[in-house]
Amino acid sequence: MPKITQKKMLTQDMLELHLEKPEGLDYQAGQFVQFEIPVEGQIVKRSYSLASTPSDEDLSFCIKILPQQLNGPASAYLPTLSVGDEIAIGPVRGRFCVSEPSDLVLIATGAGIAPIIGIVRDELENRGTPKNVYLLFGLRHEDDVFWKDVFDQLVERYPNFHYTLTLSRPSDTWTGTRGRVTDHVQNHIDNDAKYFLCGSPNMVKDVRSFLVEQKVDPKKIHFEIF
Ligand SMILES: Cc1cc2nc3c(=O)[nH]c(=O)nc-3n(C[C@H](O)[C@H](O)[C@H](O)COP(=O)(O)OP(=O)(O)OC[C@H]3O[C@@H](n4cnc5c(N)ncnc54)[C@H](O)[C@@H]3O)c2cc1C
Repeated sequence: MPKITQKKMLTQDMLELHLEKPEGLDYQAGQFVQFEIPVEGQIVKRSYSLASTPSDEDLSFCIKILPQQLNGPASAYLPTLSVGDEIAIGPVRGRFCVSEPSDLVLIATGAGIAPIIGIVRDELENRGTPKNVYLLFGLRHEDDVFWKDVFDQLVERYPNFHYTLTLSRPSDTWTGTRGRVTDHVQNHIDNDAKYFLCGSPNMVKDVRSFLVEQKVDPKKIHFEIF
């Protein structure tokens, strides 16, 4: 069983977890694994997208901890673990992956950024894509913001990477982009691009419908719903 190598709260409800990469485990950016969560002598499985890239030393994850009243077993269990503890994971699964190079429009809300950051870093750092990579990332409030420094550094380093963070319920002093991701998708229509959407069922449904209305080929719209 892989050991936890790093654990930190990114915001009050977003957990970044790193696990040792088991020997021989191969994966593509955007795939996921299932964690085995012990609950009262039984095991329940919960899926988590890999936020790391295949060349990273560890596996990393970005996990939203649900409020206690929802009684989510993983949300109750994962925060109790410490560095050095072990957790069982299943085989790599999923097809939320980039096959050949093309312009990419990546749209995420909340923990939906997990597979997307893996895809962004893999395209830029490992595959050296010459194509444009656009990221539209939606969160609610300034207090929910995380990994801004990571994306800002990628923008500085890769001229073909473009990043918009939008907040749906910012405070009055927020000077950045405002609104839901659906308010900004119209600025990201590119009929040659491939689209990768990840987040809540409503966001994915609304963005997908809008793209199809704009004549984006549905085969070019990939999505993962949490
Ligand atoms: C392919 C795949 C990849 C995933 N990757 C990630 C990931 O990278 N990061 C991540 O955080 N999650 C991810 N998830 C979701 C994850 O598997 C769990 O569902 C989530 O962590 C909640 O687990 P839990 O055991 O705490 O609660 P659950 O037992 O799943 O849910 C408890 C209760 O909360 C409700 N609920 C569940 N999710 C939400 C929500 N977001 N908002 C409001 N109510 C909710 C449920 O309907 C239920 O009533 C992924 C899911 C899939 C299918």
